[in-house]
Amino acid sequence: MAILVMKFGGTSVADLACIRNAAEKVKREVDAGWQVAVVVSAMSGETNRLVGLVRDVSKLYDAREYDAVVASGEQVTSGLMALTLQEMGVPARSWQGWQIPLKTDSSHGAARIEDIDTTAMLAKFDEGLHAVCAGFQGVSADNRIATLGRGGSDTSAVALAAALKAERCDIYTDVDGVYTTDPRVEPDARKIERIAFEEMLELASQGAKVLQTRSVELAMRYKVPLQVRSSFSDAPGTIVCDEEEIVESKVVTGVASSREEAKITLQDVSDRPGVAAAIFGPLAKAGVNVDMIVQNISDHGRTDMTFTVTLDDFDRAVATIETAKADIGFEGLVADRDVAKVSVVGIGMRSHTGVAQRMFAALAEEGVNIQVITTSEIKVSVLVQRRYMELAVRALHSAFELDSA
Ligand code: ASP
Ligand code: MG
Repeated sequence: MAILVMKFGGTSVADLACIRNAAEKVKREVDAGWQVAVVVSAMSGETNRLVGLVRDVSKLYDAREYDAVVASGEQVTSGLMALTLQEMGVPARSWQGWQIPLKTDSSHGAARIEDIDTTAMLAKFDEGLHAVCAGFQGVSADNRIATLGRGGSDTSAVALAAALKAERCDIYTDVDGVYTTDPRVEPDARKIERIAFEEMLELASQGAKVLQTRSVELAMRYKVPLQVRSSFSDAPGTIVCDEEEIVESKVVTGVASSREEAKITLQDVSDRPGVAAAIFGPLAKAGVNVDMIVQNISDHGRTDMTFTVTLDDFDRAVATIETAKADIGFEGLVADRDVAKVSVVGIGMRSHTGVAQRMFAALAEEGVNIQVITTSEIKVSVLVQRRYMELAVRALHSAFELDSA
């Protein structure tokens, strides 16, 4: 029997009525002949509540106990979903991460999946049982519950789909697909019918919050087609697939934005071999994720180095740089938390020139000043003052004709 993985996010299992609604979707697929493995998140808000409890008890908490607490939200919804399916006459059982087992490394709180042994689940499939798996959780080598990082049940679902060799992984959520940009910013944003893995990966990592970035990485690596669709309507969603399966695409597929950015400039850094390593080595060690980097050319032995980090990492980044100041050697540190990043993404950029130019012209027309620019093969990102972010998104959305079908 062909296997379908169906993942339901927190808003799709927010209460018993939502769980029933989700279970009806599962039943429909079962009735259509699929062998189904459901993956559930915790009820919306539940993981935040559990994280709060942990923080109230312990400031520098033991990450293994954090995982024991926060993984419980998914335990509840997996059991409730299995029960609801049983009530509807669909034979089903719940699976916790350790029961599958879904094995992870030992970075508790942000664990990575190492292996999924599907033997037991496949045997239960043969007995006619559908599976309901607790997302977000697994078991580490020392036999402790481990969680995959916030939003991790997307990753659970895709990894399970890959391990089970599922035909597809449907991600049910509270929006009906992936949009050309955030519809709250640009009401003319359109739902994208098909998007390539690589584009989705860039959009997710540039701030589009529909899918956890790691889940898209996995889907791309194992070529698991995804469908992002709504739990609350029957409208077709967005298919995330291999680029070969996309017949016609625009040069730019989507515009992403992120307001969670901060910019740090080190002034008068000495221009010598090893200076970048002296800056970014300690940041990497401190777990700070550096995004955009610009270093200017110097003609007098000194130069400025500018880079961006997420707002979350900002304090740690500044403290790390201050500590490493003697090693690096710089005059001043200028921090700017009033920035946002806007990116245009599209595989069409590989074969079309002029995208950056069109982007800069559209921003200039609106009087938006560009502070930093970075590019990849299929993406151009600019850093702008935060209050211009939404204006920039709208300007780019229309400049690349994303509002017209
Ligand atoms: N419940 C977890 C979270 O809120 C995992 C997930 O929903 O994907 O982060
Ligand atoms: Mg989620």
